[in-house]
Parts: sequence; structure tokens; C-alpha cells
Amino acid sequence: MMNFLRRRLSDSSFIANLPNGYMTDLQRPDPPQPPPPVSPTPERRQSSQSTGSSFFSSISNAVKQTTAAAAAGLVEQTSTGAAKKAKILLVIDEPHTDWAKLFRGKKVHGEYDIRVEQAEFAEINLIAQADGTCMVDMQVLRNGTKVVRSFKPDFIIVRQHPYSMAENEDFRNIIIGFQYGGLPSVNSLESIYNFCDKPWVFAQLVSIYKSMGPEKFPLIEQVFYPNHKEMLTMPTFPAVVKIGHAHSGMGKVKVENHYDFQDIASVVALTNTYATTEPFIDSKYDIRIQKIGNNYKAYMRTSISGNWKTNTGSAMLEQIAMTERYRFWVDKCCEMFGGLDICAVKAVHGKDGKDYIIEVMDCTMPLIGEHQAEDRELLTELVLAKMNKLIPRTPIPSPQRPAATQQPQGGSLKEAQAQPGSFPQQRPPPQGCLQYILDCNGVAVGPKQVQAS
Ligand code: ATP
Repeated sequence: MMNFLRRRLSDSSFIANLPNGYMTDLQRPDPPQPPPPVSPTPERRQSSQSTGSSFFSSISNAVKQTTAAAAAGLVEQTSTGAAKKAKILLVIDEPHTDWAKLFRGKKVHGEYDIRVEQAEFAEINLIAQADGTCMVDMQVLRNGTKVVRSFKPDFIIVRQHPYSMAENEDFRNIIIGFQYGGLPSVNSLESIYNFCDKPWVFAQLVSIYKSMGPEKFPLIEQVFYPNHKEMLTMPTFPAVVKIGHAHSGMGKVKVENHYDFQDIASVVALTNTYATTEPFIDSKYDIRIQKIGNNYKAYMRTSISGNWKTNTGSAMLEQIAMTERYRFWVDKCCEMFGGLDICAVKAVHGKDGKDYIIEVMDCTMPLIGEHQAEDRELLTELVLAKMNKLIPRTPIPSPQRPAATQQPQGGSLKEAQAQPGSFPQQRPPPQGCLQYILDCNGVAVGPKQVQAS
């Protein structure tokens, strides 16, 4: 790849077409390969062939799928003495990045170890309670073994899209649960939820554009249709139609004329979602400006295979100089939804020499380029700083603790109570709460009404 880039750079016409300061990084050696996925350290595990006793009795709601898996596989419990001195960081990410390794040896408030739990959205479920507690059930495959765990995270970082219109990729309910349970996170859960609809985010870009003007913030012209019904005419062609909330080039169609546009409108009619249209920019390259904490990087991506979507097919990615203009774009975007610690702005640079901002990404942005290892370190440091800031040193008492209480039963609840800042010591079930009676296999056999004391 580096040889290819160097050959390409020796092409003087290619260089002449680039903005000043670009391509400064290409003499660097190839980046180290990311480490292979590593399963959690054995000493952290306390695996047992599940009879399910403490785990199952801790569940106050029926999570059938999880309990059935627990019966079939392994249950890992976390209530060891050592765990009391650790804060739990939940990382929602694919297994290719070993987050436990990145946080090894790091401490919160100088005394608490960090125990990393890593899973994808599809591997977790949770129960959040009004007193601000969030118990996560996780079911992951580790070295071919199904492992079930139940724990109360102290902090969360979300690196996976919580929502896409592709099948089975709607995890907004889990984001709601984290927020309900009061979990501190980076970026904020509120902003992550807001990022679940691209036009909703684009509306923020529109307001920046309005206050800054097209010179400082060159946003692409876009039209929003809540459904297909108004998709009757388009002012200019070619255009790009973007259907619903999807990633990685999915649902983006280049439309050459009115006939194609009507065809696409008929497809939108079947999808039961919104769509946007924008002019197709005959582009030289894409630009991405990313900010992680206080670190800025800019990249350009040029299609090699000729696909108009540079993220589809093969493309060449190069780091470019961070300009004041780029910095301004990303800093402005970082102000949205109460502040974003991790953010990236995407733009298309047209053959007309103009930039067109098309999108902003949040903490779920994939890392790209040859400095991914450095970016992972930056994310680690950012999370650590936020954990120190947002996790209280001393437990915060529940504001609405009733005087007459009833001791809840179950291993995981007991474990949670043992941790500072977690469940209140004594808490009755909320009024009118439904608890499920579980049979010896952990399967719910019927609900029972619980009267609050
Ligand atoms: P995500 O970042 O969520 O994965 P996406 O890749 O699905 O988003 P976009 O970034 O909007 O969606 O579009 C994909 C690619 O298509 C862009 O990287 C860019 O190369 C190209 N593209 C998008 N909009 C336009 C446009 N209006 N004109 C020309 N090219 C465009």
C-alpha cells in the first residue's frame, strides 16, 4: 500500500491538484497491526457450570433468552472481593479492539482498578431502575464458550452504531436503558440518542450554517421528505437520494433524472421512512476531520475503483494537514447536543474546488488511517479523564429512599449493594412492580404482582 502511495505521489499532476500541506505523512512506516481479539483474563473469571442459583435469582424481570443461555453455558459472577475495588467500564464495540488491554494498569481516582466489559449491542440486555441503577446482562462467545455475566457498569463508551435500518440493528431501547439508569458515558447518552436519525443531526448542521454562513461553514443543500408523498420533483440532477438512517453507503442512490427519481420515490414508499436529497457533487475526494478530546486529525479519501461513494469499493486514504478552517468546522459541530467529546465532520471536495459538508459523526465513528493505534490511546485517555470526573468518589445516596424497606434477594443485587455508589442498601420493589416466577431452569412460568410495602 505504501509503495502504491509513493508511486502515486511521484505523479506530479496528482500532487499539483492537492491543497497546500496535504500528504505530509506518507514517509511514516506502516502502522502496527491491531492486536488479535483477546478474551477476558482468566483470573477475572469465576466460571461455573451453571446451576443458575445466584444469577437467576438476581433477575427481577424475565430475560428468557439470557437465562436459557445461562442454563446451557457458563455464568460468570462478579462479586469477588477484588471486584469491589474496581470500577466497571462497559465498552460497546466489536471484538477486534481489545479494550481490556488498553485499560490495563489504569486507575480511577488513583485507587480503583478498571474492569473492562466489552460486548456488542446484540450481546447485552439490561434492567434499569428509577433509583438510577442499571444492571447489564451480557452473553458473549469467548473462545467458543458461551459466557453469561451480570454486572452494574460505572461508565460506558459506545463505539457501535445503536441504530441502523438494516434488519435487527435497532438498539435504541438499550440506550434508553443506560440513560434511565443514569450511566455516565462518552459521548453523552443524550447525544448518542440524538444521533439515531441523520436528518435530526443535519438540522443541527443547518443551524450552524445559518449562524456562520456558507463561507465559514459550507453545508451541502439538502431537502428532507418525511415520507415518499412529497417526492414529486427535484430541482437539479444528478442528485443523491439518502433513504432512512443507514450507514456504510447503504440506502444512498445516485439519481440522474426525473424518471429515476420517481422510481426511487416508489421504493421509499415501501420503506416507511424518511428520505433526503442533495445535489450530486462531482468530487475529487472526501474529507474527514475528526476530533478526539483535544486531538485533531484530517484525512482525504480518493476513490480508486471509481465508485462515487468513496467508502464503497477501494479507495486511497491519506492524512492531510489540519487547517484553521477544518478546525472551525469540527469545533462548531462539537457544540451540538450539549457537547461532543468525540466527533468527525465529513465533506466532499468537488472538482469545482469547493467543499461541501455532508455529515457529522459521533463517538461511533470508525477509526481510519495509519494512526489508529494512537487514536485508540486517545480514546482511552479521554474515557479515563471522564471516569475520574463523572464517577463520584463517594456513593450518592438515593434521594427517595423509603423508610420501610424490604431486603431484595439475589446474588447480583447483593453484589451491586457491595459496591459504592450502586444500589441503595435497602430498596423495596417499585409500587405495582411485576416480578416473574422462574422455574428451576430459569424460565419464567408466570408473573406475580408485588405489593409495595
Ligand atoms: P456513515 O458515515 O454513517 O457510514 P454513509 O457512508 O452511509 O454514512 P454518506 O457518508 O452520506 O453515507 O455517503 C457515502 C459516500 O458517498 C460519501 O463518503 C461520499 O463519498 C459519497 N457522497 C455522499 N453524498 C454525496 C454527494 N452529495 N455528492 C457526491 N458524493 C456523495
